[in-house]
Amino acid sequence: MDYQNITVAGSGVLGSQIAYQSAFKGFNVTVYDINDEALKNAQDRITKLKPLYQKDLGATQEEVNAAYARLSFKSDLSEAVANADLVIEAIPEVVTIKTEFYTNLGKVAPAKTIFATNSSTLLPSQFAEATGRPEKFLALHFANTIWKNNTAEIMKHPGTDMNVFDEVVKFALAIGMVPLQLYKEQPGYILNSLLVPFLDAAESLLVKEIADPETIDKTWMIATGAPLGPFAILDIIGINTSLNIVEAKAAATNDESLNKLANLLRTKYIEKGKLGRASGEGFYKYPNPSFEKPDFLKG
Ligand code: NAD
Repeated sequence: MDYQNITVAGSGVLGSQIAYQSAFKGFNVTVYDINDEALKNAQDRITKLKPLYQKDLGATQEEVNAAYARLSFKSDLSEAVANADLVIEAIPEVVTIKTEFYTNLGKVAPAKTIFATNSSTLLPSQFAEATGRPEKFLALHFANTIWKNNTAEIMKHPGTDMNVFDEVVKFALAIGMVPLQLYKEQPGYILNSLLVPFLDAAESLLVKEIADPETIDKTWMIATGAPLGPFAILDIIGINTSLNIVEAKAAATNDESLNKLANLLRTKYIEKGKLGRASGEGFYKYPNPSFEKPDFLKG
């Protein structure tokens, strides 16, 4: 089946990007959210994407306006999915909210409609039964700023029909993503399965006072040729997000070194307003962080 009509449910950070990217690539897109206020926010958020598409992708004024014109906005779920070939869900990362959403969606969507979740941390099998159509359900996971960081991790759960999986791979390609196929469920998909232990290891070196962030990044960059080290990546993610994750793990395990790390992130960085790249300073100062200077890798 070739998809034409896409519905994106949840129009926050990621939903608005997924909706606009799909429209930019020529699909008819319905944006669904809980009420008119949320939809108004979505319109503002998507309007702000237009200049970024012009700057980053060289899109013309006509192209960004034509993409916007392919969007419609609805707060009634039945209306929003009446013609949908594919519904991409990007609603809050809360099990009860998603379960209720899929239960309702399964009742009102046409039988042909495929459902995909953009969830970062929850597995599709958790919701497969609630959808009422497990064979037509899977994960389609994007990265923030999807027009530039164009990965699409496509992940089956045990009951997903392989033809549905292949169709969604085709759709991801059609909207300019690089489809990355996961044949089995994996918490964290591919990217976070690699990234999370890598960042944990870097933070552990720091908290044990083995080396400073610059030396750790330098080691990684020189030895592997990577353009960024783990602390430069943590600055992009934001130190607050990192602290939230460390605190959750510390609470679950009562690991003393995690408590020490949380304390270090709080007192040395967050309480000093060093939140990462977005705040102008984290482990490095921005713009022009030291790791971008030519002599950084020389000594
Ligand atoms: P967000 O909080 O920015 O947006 C959530 C949107 O969902 C809001 O507009 C809200 O009004 C709406 N919503 C709430 N309940 C709803 C319901 N019952 N039905 C329809 N809409 C509802 O969240 P986000 O950061 O865009 O994340 C959404 C999903 O995308 C999550 O599953 C998250 O794991 C995933 N994700 C996020 C990122 C990211 O960097 N933010 C990256 C990849 C994946």
